[in-house]
Amino acid sequence: MSRRELLDELGDLVGPAHVLTGELAASATTDWTGRWSGACEAVVRPGSTAEVSGVVVACASRGVPVVPQGGNTGLVGGAVPQPGSVVLSTRRLAGIGPVDDATGQVTAGAGATIGAVAAAARAASWRYPVDFAARDSATLGGTIATNAGGHHVLRHGMTRRHVVGVEAVLADGAVVSHLGGLVKDNTGYDLAALLCGSEGTLGVITAARMALAPADGDRAVALVGLADLDHLATVVGHLRRAAPEIEALELMLADGLNAVASHLGAPIPVPGAEVVILVELVARRDASGLLVEALAGLDAIGDTAVATDGPAAASLWRWREAHTEVINAVGPHPPHKFDVSLPLDGMAAFVAEVRADVAHHHPGALVWIFGHAGDGNLHVNVTGPAPDDQSIDELVLTLTAAAGGSISAEHGIGRAKRQWLHLSRSPEEIEVFRSLKRALDPGNVLNPGVLLP
Ligand SMILES: Cc1cc2nc3c(=O)[nH]c(=O)nc-3n(C[C@H](O)[C@H](O)[C@H](O)COP(=O)(O)OP(=O)(O)OC[C@H]3O[C@@H](n4cnc5c(N)ncnc54)[C@H](O)[C@@H]3O)c2cc1C
Repeated sequence: MSRRELLDELGDLVGPAHVLTGELAASATTDWTGRWSGACEAVVRPGSTAEVSGVVVACASRGVPVVPQGGNTGLVGGAVPQPGSVVLSTRRLAGIGPVDDATGQVTAGAGATIGAVAAAARAASWRYPVDFAARDSATLGGTIATNAGGHHVLRHGMTRRHVVGVEAVLADGAVVSHLGGLVKDNTGYDLAALLCGSEGTLGVITAARMALAPADGDRAVALVGLADLDHLATVVGHLRRAAPEIEALELMLADGLNAVASHLGAPIPVPGAEVVILVELVARRDASGLLVEALAGLDAIGDTAVATDGPAAASLWRWREAHTEVINAVGPHPPHKFDVSLPLDGMAAFVAEVRADVAHHHPGALVWIFGHAGDGNLHVNVTGPAPDDQSIDELVLTLTAAAGGSISAEHGIGRAKRQWLHLSRSPEEIEVFRSLKRALDPGNVLNPGVLLP
């Protein structure tokens, strides 16, 4: 059957206006960083779970790969289609149901952005605590498929912790749905948990039942200068013990802050520090008092800037959140992005080693490091090497594994890291992954080439 016939059938299923080709499909074929790009037959935008099922069956029956795509903000090339495939965009599945006040749960479509889910939760005096800079584009389905983390993992965990149940379309078009929202429900395999982190390879998530957190109370944010990274583990340990209300403990280094300062055209609030942490504390009342008290117990800190109202807190957060976009614009090519986690007491040595090895093997390349310090999660970005120069990936990921770390803390494996999966997973684990993939998607229809080497 020809491409034309496939497009016609897809148009019959979802409406011709929702089958995009050519220029209209272009933005779906390149990722946010610009490092990963591909091509597709079409971008299809189903408007219901039944339509998603129809699209998957139509593609599967012709051996056409289906690439689920939400906000396309992923950073490992996982939603970037390969030639001959169809992108299944979930953006029209954006409905958000009422918040259940008794359980603090909400059911939303996979295409709702996490910003919209958070707004709906807020309007009902609850809170959706998975949050990061791409909040207005990243979708619920995408964040479940990548088990996204973000700023508040320290206190609230990653996306998986909030998923109560999912509805998903499998590779044969079958719909599995478990959205009842029972708090206790030990009735066998947890399919929702299996889909968390599956990166579009096991099913297309169409909706999810999410657990919310109690609403924001009082909030205080501080930027704190540290003398060096050697003190980081002690500082994090002290702050976690002193104030369990701390939600975010973010890390920035002098070179990244200087680049952000040029971009913002503003002076760094804690000038001269080589290492700066952002600490956010949320409590029922007197957040700033609790934060100042927790910081007072530390002796290894330098200048501190504290924000106690919303706009001031947002402007301190801007220093951390702008890192991704500023580094993305450094050039001459899109950055090589690594999202690794490490034992906290090994971070200083790891950072020194990465900088030294990159300088030795790639003179002229720049290393940018920031991240979620409280979770031992570093975003390592290297600018300079060409996008297809994989020796830099090999270098950073091998150093990570040697330091006892994980090659993906939160962004996933995607296309970018599949050949290095063995650095973090044993052959036996990878064989289990393959068995699951074979069982749920024997025809390799869903996102082939992603996650599994
Ligand atoms: C500025 C910026 C900051 C970021 N900060 C963070 C951060 O702090 N923490 C973090 O974890 N990530 C972060 N990210 C990465 C990214 O936002 C997350 O990976 C996010 O979860 C991707 O959501 P998405 O809807 O854009 O998914 P996409 O990019 O569209 O897809 C990502 C993967 O999920 C699959 N997928 C998408 N939707 C579905 C679905 N409905 N069913 C099945 N599979 C699906 C895709 O096939 C792909 O493999 C950041 C990105 C940017 C651009």
